[in-house]
Amino acid sequence: MSERQKTLQSHNLRIPDAEDSIAATSTATRLNVRTATVSKILNFSCVDGPGNRLVIFLQGCNYQCKSCHNPQTIDMCNHCGDCVETCPTNALTLISSKVIWDASLCSHCDNCLAVCPKQSSPKTQQYTVAEMLDVIRNNLFFISGITVTGGEATLQLGFIKGLFSAIKSSSDLQHLTCMIDSNGSLRTTSWAKLLPFTDGVMIDLKAWQEETHLWLTGRQHHRVFQSIELLVQHNKLYEVRLLHIPGKTDFDAEVDELASYLTQLPKDTRIKLNAFQHHGVTSEALTWETCQESDITHLANQLTERDVTNIVVPSVYL
Ligand code: SF4
Ligand code: SF4
Repeated sequence: MSERQKTLQSHNLRIPDAEDSIAATSTATRLNVRTATVSKILNFSCVDGPGNRLVIFLQGCNYQCKSCHNPQTIDMCNHCGDCVETCPTNALTLISSKVIWDASLCSHCDNCLAVCPKQSSPKTQQYTVAEMLDVIRNNLFFISGITVTGGEATLQLGFIKGLFSAIKSSSDLQHLTCMIDSNGSLRTTSWAKLLPFTDGVMIDLKAWQEETHLWLTGRQHHRVFQSIELLVQHNKLYEVRLLHIPGKTDFDAEVDELASYLTQLPKDTRIKLNAFQHHGVTSEALTWETCQESDITHLANQLTERDVTNIVVPSVYL
């Protein structure tokens, strides 16, 4: 048995029970005041989990992926003011050492993102849990669930816990499924705090070999495998995402080990193959070849031949 197959063996964490639900209800009010730094809210998505979903993009990430297609979500704004002068519509003003964004004046030209030295944005906004619940209620008729993503969503763990516990304890919202899109770097002890309120998790496995992952993201990936293992134990792993960058990531070169690992996961886990594209990328990755449909088909066929099932491929290559 390989090291990675061994990661599917159990951690000794307590299964959430009825007491967790009671505790969730009693703490929901307190958690309503938690705030998050939000980079974007998408009122409707059908590709970020099952059904129709409202997607909350949280600002900040602990990876530095060369392939990041959203690099302005990586860091928090330090209000240096460098972006203010670049705004053609006066949507940005520096008041009392803080950059203020007026959404009503913004033309979304993204000049401010291009000049920011911090991989940040002046357009992030603070939301309390109560304010986010209002946003959700305004869209309630159209959605079947909520997905939090990023950046790396779990860096704002307290907000997610507050939001999800409030949803699960609200009679008009508790039918919504609560899902997290994550790079898998969260410690298992922290996942355990979220799982009682979380219906499913999508995890990015960005490379198979440690050295490839380190080169691509700046971080080791042992916690990704620990996260997957924990989520499997709690029946909360919805999807594993593999970003295929031909000649850069190593999924095709390591397909035997990769397939052996994936076949150990529950059969209903979606194995989603994502194709690297240049959209949004600002690093050296702009010089890399993009991933074509033929590359994805080849990888999917290799995995299928090795008994991996439930493979999901992109519907478009842009
Ligand atoms: S968004 Fe970037 S450039 Fe603008 S104030 Fe914040 S850190 Fe400075
Ligand atoms: S995206 Fe909006 S805030 Fe940023 S420079 Fe353009 S108009 Fe100004």
